[in-house]
Amino acid sequence: MPLDQIGADAPAAVIPVFDPATAEQIAEVPDVGPRAVDAAVARARATFESGVWREMLPKHRAKVLWRVAEIVDRRIDEIVEVEARNNGMARWLARNLIASAAEVFRYYAGWVTKIHGQSTDIMAEGGISGANARYHAYTLKEPVGVAGLIIPWNGPFYGAMVKLAPALAAGCSCVLKPAEETPLTSLMLPEILAEAGVPDGVVNIITGYGETTGAALARHPDVDKIAFTGSTETGKLIVQAAAGNLKRVTLELGGKTPVLIYDDADLSKAVPGAGLGIFINAGQGCVCGSRLYVQRGVYDQVVEGLANFGKAMKLGGSDDPEAQVGPIISQRQLQRVSNLVEEGRVQGAEVVSGGRILDRPGYFFEPTVVTNVRPDMRMMQEEIFGPVIAVIPFDDEEEVIAEANNSTYGLAAGVWTREIARAHRLAKRLEAGTVWLNAQLAWDVSQPFGGYKQSGWGYEYGWEGLNAYLKTKTVYAEI
Ligand code: ADP
Repeated sequence: MPLDQIGADAPAAVIPVFDPATAEQIAEVPDVGPRAVDAAVARARATFESGVWREMLPKHRAKVLWRVAEIVDRRIDEIVEVEARNNGMARWLARNLIASAAEVFRYYAGWVTKIHGQSTDIMAEGGISGANARYHAYTLKEPVGVAGLIIPWNGPFYGAMVKLAPALAAGCSCVLKPAEETPLTSLMLPEILAEAGVPDGVVNIITGYGETTGAALARHPDVDKIAFTGSTETGKLIVQAAAGNLKRVTLELGGKTPVLIYDDADLSKAVPGAGLGIFINAGQGCVCGSRLYVQRGVYDQVVEGLANFGKAMKLGGSDDPEAQVGPIISQRQLQRVSNLVEEGRVQGAEVVSGGRILDRPGYFFEPTVVTNVRPDMRMMQEEIFGPVIAVIPFDDEEEVIAEANNSTYGLAAGVWTREIARAHRLAKRLEAGTVWLNAQLAWDVSQPFGGYKQSGWGYEYGWEGLNAYLKTKTVYAEI
């Protein structure tokens, strides 16, 4: 729905939107507030109840989703332009993520015609009548209803599409709130979805701050599900807000990914793997590997290699097509990253390379390698969400497993070793929803993605990601 429609009667505060590479304001959007949230939810509800989307023949709904992917492919240059400018991410990364977003729609387009329940013939002994009875029982898969989708700023377009695709495949109607820092590519979606054939009112985009507009969506009594990606702290607030009508909640939260490099690892792959695994997107990814445990025999070599890898990375804004890494999203976030590194330094950590804010416009922080850290330091406990990696030596397996698992988070973990049995043993023992063996940042829409511990509830991607937007009804028929 166009913003001028939903925000018409709301006392909209204005949110300035910046290019983080220059710190210049490039747009402004309204903080639409609770009344506009009511209006958007009412529209989503009306389209859901009307059946205009959920009762569309699956083969037709599938075609609409496929067309969304085609339109995104066709308009990719334009979307990359806006995404790179608003988020600051390097163009190559924006292009990868937006192309992947189209693939996510193709993947879920394939599922639409394969959503079905199961049937069973059962005999209940001594049933309610005291006699044995035979039943034919079957399950129906039905969309959960109105889904509220709340997304963060670190991969704005991709993040929106990853939630929309399974929600739409399931037949839900949606209200989507992008992050206040990065609303611009989400605002391109109404046009894309309309051209593809998504009926008007099925997807409603609202812009606003988390505490006002986001919170109003999370607590709304007529929203059936919230799918949230963001910080663990905000995830807990969402859970509380959702309690009012016990709406379903899926959460993709923070991480503190440990990566283990053994003496026998192929360092020609492990070092750049670990480097890219943290410095990509300036460390602003929930699965970025921020704790690197290196076996003593190759410790010095890895620290040096990683420092060189970081120093060689080309930082730049969206106007620089050669840039490998962009800025941090905001001044506030830049200061937080800098403070965490400074605090570690004061407590005895050694900054081997990087560690400084760049002396140029925008919010750039150098790729940073830190050693001499202790597990109780804030930079070892909290998600930094910046290009900062701590390197810690280890000797034996039990020690490193205990340290790697010493975190409230459990989103991802990585192991680099040539010993196959060890790799698989560690995959079982590391407490994380995703484990990479001799790989880093690998992901595919066909594989479930979710967090252990305080990294989340439920799964995205794959069948499980679709099932998160479906409910199951059981039907018994006496035969
Ligand atoms: P960050 O700290 O990285 O900004 P958040 O978890 O605060 O991450 O934000 C992720 C998304 O959650 C954003 O769209 C933000 O507006 C939204 N948000 C923040 N606070 C709340 C809240 N209390 N209720 C609902 N949504 C919120």
